[in-house]
Amino acid sequence: MKTIKVSVVTPDGPVYDADVEMVSTKAKSGELGIMAGHVPMVAPLDIAAVRLKHSGHTDYIAVSGGFLEVRPDVVTILALSAEKAESIDLGRAQTAKARAEKWLEDQQNSTDTKRAQLALRRAINRINTAEHK
Ligand code: ATP
Repeated sequence: MKTIKVSVVTPDGPVYDADVEMVSTKAKSGELGIMAGHVPMVAPLDIAAVRLKHSGHTDYIAVSGGFLEVRPDVVTILALSAEKAESIDLGRAQTAKARAEKWLEDQQNSTDTKRAQLALRRAINRINTAEHK
């Protein structure tokens, strides 16, 4: 099967580089699935897992938003943060989840609610992605 090169980069540096058969993730506009030959495009990403299928195996990466760019034969994901499933510190994500939940319980009407909701979504995404290590 034809493959496409994928690079996942963050402000801290590269996280993943491989040739894959399919990249799938959740963009702001909905689910995306990209294979070799896809038309060039740029899509803003949601807080979600990126799934990278190759050689009968799927790698999972938790990303916290950013952009996905498709060019001929290469997909670049510029992520605000990105962790491979095996690099996720589950305890840290669980602590972040509990902290955000407590904050939301205590301060329901604060203007910082959106921040806590995003922190909660990042933590849940990391916890779910870590299941695929
Ligand atoms: P925390 O409150 O635990 O810092 P956060 O969602 O606020 O979580 P971010 O600001 O998204 O964290 O990320 C800061 C840096 O820490 C990034 O480099 C990110 O990859 C890393 N990071 C955050 N949480 C985890 C985790 N559970 N495991 C591994 N790396 C993490």
